[in-house]
Amino acid sequence: MTQHADVVVVGGGQAGLAAGYHLRRQGLDFTVLDADAAPGGSWQHMWDSLHLFSPAEHSSLPGRFMPAQVGETYPGARHVVDYLTDYEKRYDLPVQHGTRVDAVRPAGDHLLAEADSGTWRARAVISATGSWSRPFLPAVPGRDTFTGRQLHTVDYRCPADFAGQRVLVVGGGNSGAQIAADLALDGHVDVTWVTRRPPRFLADDIDGRALFDVATARRRALDSGRSDTGGVASLGDIVAVPPVRAARDAGLLTAKPMFARLTANGARWDDGSRSGADAVIRCTGFRPALAHPAPLNLRGPRGRIPTDGTRALGEPRLHLLGYGDWTGPASATLIGAGRPARDAVRDVARLLSS
Ligand code: FAD
Repeated sequence: MTQHADVVVVGGGQAGLAAGYHLRRQGLDFTVLDADAAPGGSWQHMWDSLHLFSPAEHSSLPGRFMPAQVGETYPGARHVVDYLTDYEKRYDLPVQHGTRVDAVRPAGDHLLAEADSGTWRARAVISATGSWSRPFLPAVPGRDTFTGRQLHTVDYRCPADFAGQRVLVVGGGNSGAQIAADLALDGHVDVTWVTRRPPRFLADDIDGRALFDVATARRRALDSGRSDTGGVASLGDIVAVPPVRAARDAGLLTAKPMFARLTANGARWDDGSRSGADAVIRCTGFRPALAHPAPLNLRGPRGRIPTDGTRALGEPRLHLLGYGDWTGPASATLIGAGRPARDAVRDVARLLSS
């Protein structure tokens, strides 16, 4: 059965909800289709000890401040899920959970969003599917010979799952550092942290607030033709959130260089040294979950769709929210999701009224 909405939002995480907020304010006819059975986007799948890198008041979507979490400066992932669940209800956003969109294709002056539960005909589509469902796993020599457990960031829950084991954590970004710290501070796991280049910690006083300002300043400089200010990446790779700082200061977070290959029961380095491992957790990032617009043939390098702001260059009825700063400064953060959502909805409203 084909249903109709003027605007279909694909994905009901923070980016999709921010779009919903602005669509509601504009009085547009829309629906949000979300693959997850429950509200909260990817926050509901993150590891138990994960905390935000910004305080609550700097992690809010448009319209409603995130309340502080009692006893925590940096709220935990569960608190974010509660906030997003409440946000969805408060603004009466029409989110259909448990609905995965497999394809978005053109059909004359409409787009069709083909979901597992039926097809939606829309005049515009806003894609906000994040990247959590597309873990990136670069090739590793010896990967097929390793007999232990191989996991990605998305599979990690808590240190208790690795009690008494030797674990290799691979990756010099935030996830790698935080998971290595979580395991090391637990005291019951033998952790080896491995990074391609020496870890680059940001200064201890830099958290998500400062990062947002830096990302915004960079975008403004680029948009006004000034020279590149370097952005967040120029400051470092790892936000020194409290557990990372604690593990680092206790000497538990020293990284080894990347190994040459995995072996049957561990890893081997170029100098011939070896380390045994029962599990390898690869914190090697994500790619945008953008399989559904494939029929529109818009794909550019690294799985991205080229955009002007949030609008797809090759299809003006399609907007992208979240994913990375190519869709707006800090657009894949809680505090940064609102502005690109507002701009996308304004553009969609203009399109619908033309
Ligand atoms: P998601 O939260 O991933 O939501 C996407 C939604 O789309 C999901 O509900 C999913 O079910 C749905 N979906 C996917 N594919 C389909 C489909 N085909 N059809 C229908 N629905 C679909 N940001 C901060 O601001 N502060 C932080 O401290 C912070 N920490 C982070 C820590 C980690 C480990 C990671 C990975 C990210 C962190 N981020 C942080 C970045 C960012 O805020 C989160 O990744 C956030 O979840 C992105 O929101 P989103 O709405 O873009 O995507």
